[in-house]
Amino acid sequence: MSLGLPTKIDLHCHSHYSDGSLSPQELIDRAHNNSVEMLAITDHDSVEAVKELWDKKAELPLTLIPAVEVSSSWEGRDIHIVGLNVDHQHPEFVQFLEQQFSKRHERGLLLIEKLEARLKIEQVAEKIAVLAKGGIVCRSHFAQLLVDEDRASDIRRAFSKFLAKGKIAAVTSNWPDISESIAQITGCGGIAVLAHPTRYKLSNSRLYALIEQFSRFGGGALEMAYPGIDKAQQRRLARIAREFGLAASRGSDFHHPWQVWADLGKVPPLPADVKVVWEAFISKSPC
Ligand code: AMP
Ligand code: MN
Ligand code: MN
Ligand code: MN
Repeated sequence: MSLGLPTKIDLHCHSHYSDGSLSPQELIDRAHNNSVEMLAITDHDSVEAVKELWDKKAELPLTLIPAVEVSSSWEGRDIHIVGLNVDHQHPEFVQFLEQQFSKRHERGLLLIEKLEARLKIEQVAEKIAVLAKGGIVCRSHFAQLLVDEDRASDIRRAFSKFLAKGKIAAVTSNWPDISESIAQITGCGGIAVLAHPTRYKLSNSRLYALIEQFSRFGGGALEMAYPGIDKAQQRRLARIAREFGLAASRGSDFHHPWQVWADLGKVPPLPADVKVVWEAFISKSPC
């Protein structure tokens, strides 16, 4: 029975403003075609897609949630915090994203240098500029370049062979601690969501410690439904979320149409008995 609530919800995906390949409007069209009724575009450290769509949000065929995926750090590891319902024009938040942009720029220069000096690839800056399509530069663009240059057969292998910790083109990122990212997201009215918790390769006890701190710093929800997560992992996350009063979010983490296993709206169901994060948006918006 439908109560008029959106049934197909995807709160994690990327446009060409970060490392996705579709424009914001193409994402909306594809999501709508896939029957998605509520979508958050969560580019890495960028709200350009939100900006581009904001003036016409009332005419879109679905509810657009202004959002971002903030690159962060916890105990020396890259951790991603999704900010949902952020105020993309909030001056402090805009300034924070500008700092993230600078960090990406500096890290990008270092990577260019490594690919040119160590891997003897020519005109890396120019090639990356084409791949990034004017958006922010992500390591996945470098991975794509390594594939284009026949140094790796796919993006995953480009990461494990060249870009991973200890490999020839590894770089350390200087991302803010999760406490700062959460404070920035909540400071502009957003809800902080721990992105894809099972993808960090943490032991159960370390993941528990991460979630405990995430919650203590003001985090509001855990992603619990995304491609690749299994039922046992979902049950475990649901248990921890209940313990800390956290809600649950779901998202495909869609980047490219050819990644058919992570298409928009194609997300496993959430475990039963979780508090869903989008209730907060629905109660705020007029019927
Ligand atoms: P960055 O934020 O620039 O460090 O880039 C991180 C992005 O690279 C992630 O959001 C993924 O899209 C991609 N990525 C990271 N590690 C891998 C991997 N092992 N295989 C494929 N893509 C990856
Ligand atoms: Mn990405
Ligand atoms: Mn991520
Ligand atoms: Mn993502």
